[in-house]
Amino acid sequence: MTTASELLAHFGIPESGDVAVRSPIDGAVIGHVAYDAPEEIGVKIAVAERAFQAWRAVPAPRRGELVRLFGEELRANKEKLGRLVTLEAGKILQEGLGEVQEMIDICDFAVGLSRQLYGLTIASERPGHRMMETWHPLGPVAIISAFNFPVAVWAWNAALALVCGDTVIWKPSEKTPLTALATQALFERAVKRFGDAPAGLSSVVLGLADAGKALAADVRIPLVSATGSTRMGRALGPVVAERFGRSLLELGGNNAMIVMPSADLELAVRAILFAAVGTAGQRCTSLRRLLVHADVYDKLVPRVKAAYGRVTIGDPLETGTLVGPLVDKAAFDGMEAALAGAKSAGGVVTGGGRALADQYPNAVYAHPAVVEMPSQTGVMIHETFAPILYVVKIGSLDEGLTLQNAVPQGLSSCIFTRDMQEAERFTSAAGSDCGIANVNIGPSGAEIGGAFGGEKETGGGRESGSDSWRAYMRRQTATVNYSNALPLAQGIKFDLD
Ligand code: NAD
Repeated sequence: MTTASELLAHFGIPESGDVAVRSPIDGAVIGHVAYDAPEEIGVKIAVAERAFQAWRAVPAPRRGELVRLFGEELRANKEKLGRLVTLEAGKILQEGLGEVQEMIDICDFAVGLSRQLYGLTIASERPGHRMMETWHPLGPVAIISAFNFPVAVWAWNAALALVCGDTVIWKPSEKTPLTALATQALFERAVKRFGDAPAGLSSVVLGLADAGKALAADVRIPLVSATGSTRMGRALGPVVAERFGRSLLELGGNNAMIVMPSADLELAVRAILFAAVGTAGQRCTSLRRLLVHADVYDKLVPRVKAAYGRVTIGDPLETGTLVGPLVDKAAFDGMEAALAGAKSAGGVVTGGGRALADQYPNAVYAHPAVVEMPSQTGVMIHETFAPILYVVKIGSLDEGLTLQNAVPQGLSSCIFTRDMQEAERFTSAAGSDCGIANVNIGPSGAEIGGAFGGEKETGGGRESGSDSWRAYMRRQTATVNYSNALPLAQGIKFDLD
């Protein structure tokens, strides 16, 4: 088995610095890093700004070639980077590998996109004029990322930003600096093979929230793409807005599944299990609220609880483990507090509590919990970043939709039904109010081809597929007069004689 130090050596990451990085698997120190001082952050921004001046003039398909080479590096190093993701973030190895696959997929997408940054031609009301809309590179983009998708979220942003002609500065979560340094090392290998890229196209800034704040406040950065908690977005948004910068916010979710009487319950149980306990409930798209129609409640809920009882909790590097550790003790404390709150609101808890404490005294594993609630109250309205699934009985689709939409977050949602009218209503304008609405698929595990993001307190940002690339460019409307006259718009006459 490859150890952490072998992986760091492979990626050329020095094991020096005064900040210890611990693995959530067993609490062991797996590396050391140094945080950037404010003046070092300033230098990295200046370098990114200078690199942008050159990169924006490189033809977009050529920029795509760099991203293609980066995708090749990722393919060749998928196993090693995936393993480092598991060591540093604690997600099971299959999910660590899946995360790197997502990086590869978005690179492929971005390479194609580099030949498709289309603008429009627009009918001009004036004779002998042509009007067009062009998309230009924007500038250095700051990417602030969360611990739970330590590398994929950066890639969603960076692959697009780079083909769009931007440079990128990455402030990863303080809990996952090593995977960021490893990714940067792979990117630099691609840059070397590419040959003539300007220095500093991509850089990594390490630090706590203050480092993120410094990027948010810097006027040289036109776009700040930030993924994390709603608390972080609420603090960061005004800082970027104050200087008229743009922010792309990907914040917390509180995702629901509605199960209707016609649903395939076998399918639903599998979807519930993956979405609620996968990544130990630490996905922004994790299933947190299960709204079950009364007609199938007694058939479905005992099956869900039985499936929970069979889940293997343990070392995420081991084959067969489905639930790895929580990221830290604070996450477990949050889970305990939420379960206590649910109990005092009349909730009946199955599961929960610490697991494997003797085996891993310096790490935190938890039994996933199912909580049957008398109604959707208090604690269910907030996102607790842990494997808790609240279950509420509903009497109709109307009631399910009302409950689903009655939370401040608006990221992902789904319905299990075989009834076409219910499925269509769910995805209609009067249905789910979320950025993602699925039918007979759980709320987590989005594909990169679609735009990813959510409404309300989730922040409104969209990244990854579809036309999300537009966020990384500036739009210019240009009108060209190829006539010998100067007709004014709106028929205005403004003659001297
Ligand atoms: P977090 O908010 O604690 O930290 C996220 C990042 O923001 C870190 O890099 C952190 O250093 C930085 N940060 C914190 N405060 C800041 C500030 N005031 N200014 C600038 N930067 C600041 O989140 P976390 O615990 O790492 O991740 C879990 C959260 O992220 C959950 O709420 C989850 O739903 C959310 N998340 C959302 C998405 C999405 O796409 N919507 C994806 C992954 C995670």
